[in-house]
Amino acid sequence: MKRHHQVLIIGAGPAGSAAAHTLARGGVDVALVDKARFPRDKLCGGLLTLRCRKVYRSIFDAPWEEVIGHVSTGVKFLHGGRVLNEVRGASQLFFTRRLNFDHFLLEQAVARGAVTYLGAAIVDLDLSVKSCRLDSGLEIGFDALIGADGVNSLVAKCLFGRSFDPERVAFALEMEVDPARSAARVDDPEIHFGLARWGYAWVFPKKDTLTVGIGGLLARNPDLKTTFRRFHLERFGVEAQGRIRGHHLPFGDYRSIPGRGNVLLCGDAAGLVEPITGEGIAFALHSGRLAAEALIEAGAGAVALAGYRARYREIAADFDHARRLRYLLFPDLSERLFLKALHGAKSLPRKHLELMADEIGYGEYFRYLLASAARHPGRLFHLLARRGQ
Ligand SMILES: Cc1cc2nc3c(=O)[nH]c(=O)nc-3n(C[C@H](O)[C@H](O)[C@H](O)COP(=O)(O)OP(=O)(O)OC[C@H]3O[C@@H](n4cnc5c(N)ncnc54)[C@H](O)[C@@H]3O)c2cc1C
Repeated sequence: MKRHHQVLIIGAGPAGSAAAHTLARGGVDVALVDKARFPRDKLCGGLLTLRCRKVYRSIFDAPWEEVIGHVSTGVKFLHGGRVLNEVRGASQLFFTRRLNFDHFLLEQAVARGAVTYLGAAIVDLDLSVKSCRLDSGLEIGFDALIGADGVNSLVAKCLFGRSFDPERVAFALEMEVDPARSAARVDDPEIHFGLARWGYAWVFPKKDTLTVGIGGLLARNPDLKTTFRRFHLERFGVEAQGRIRGHHLPFGDYRSIPGRGNVLLCGDAAGLVEPITGEGIAFALHSGRLAAEALIEAGAGAVALAGYRARYREIAADFDHARRLRYLLFPDLSERLFLKALHGAKSLPRKHLELMADEIGYGEYFRYLLASAARHPGRLFHLLARRGQ
């Protein structure tokens, strides 16, 4: 049996559903394939920023409040169990469960007319004849393909030989913790520095659970699980009980050329996880929309990659700034200086939250940090000297 669609999307996460919704609204015959049945969970902190809400609203129609379990307007930054800084009354941070959020997006894409093949893994993909085979045996042909199949992307592997660079990928661990475990009520997210190298640990409040996690560059954190257990013990006073789950995340190692011809990569498949905060959902939605718009603009038969690359530059420019910023935040010496600067500072954490809310751009934030460092030339010298770490 063989089916055919103008556009086939592999992966029905945020990137896939954003692309499907945009294409279906544009009158394109589009289908989504996902190996999972929905609602399905995805390992994730579930933090959504105002940046994410802005992108969400540019794609979907339904208000997202029904899938938001908690809203916070503050953040705590900690080091060694000590609060370095606490921001209150800042821009909103939203917390969701991916089980609900991704299903909510998918339902909207389906309501717009996207066809779905769920619980169906792609077992064979032949880009030369524009066809794939599902584990059910069904074959699907396509004119254009969107790879929105996450960090272990089969589409990226078919195009470039591998899904991600193991030297540059990050790894994260998470588990759900009963809020009763915490001595004090957790209303605001906590960011813990000094545990993961080139990364951080977090405690995110949800409706009826705390999502506790740690993540950082895999190559620099060979024993992340032990660090996670130590963190849990220090933070909650008891050993971690229950399943600690792990997942790769691309963490800024994005593809400069996100596809080939009419095969386009979006979201984690394109490496679009922000290299400082680890935020990925906003960029998955954004890139999904941009890929769909490029395909619509190109029309039947024409190659869409050039149009996608032109749009994608906007995200790439932000990621390039953020990748440079990492050298001001993550290497040992600069991390120490950053934490010192963060301790009790008024404007630094607020600027960071403004960045996450898309109220200021990455370029502006980069210039702000450089100007702050330049006020201490000795420190700046050390930073620049060690930039190549
Ligand atoms: C521990 C952790 C915490 C995170 N916390 C946050 C956070 O708080 N906020 C944030 O913004 N980002 C966070 N991220 C990043 C975020 O989860 C990702 O960036 C986001 O999920 C990317 O969306 P996507 O649509 O590209 O891919 P995904 O959400 O991974 O979706 C890919 C889909 O493709 C399907 N698929 C894969 N292969 C196949 C195949 N061969 N056949 C069929 N289907 C297939 C999968 O089943 C899946 O449904 C976190 C990541 C991790 C690992």
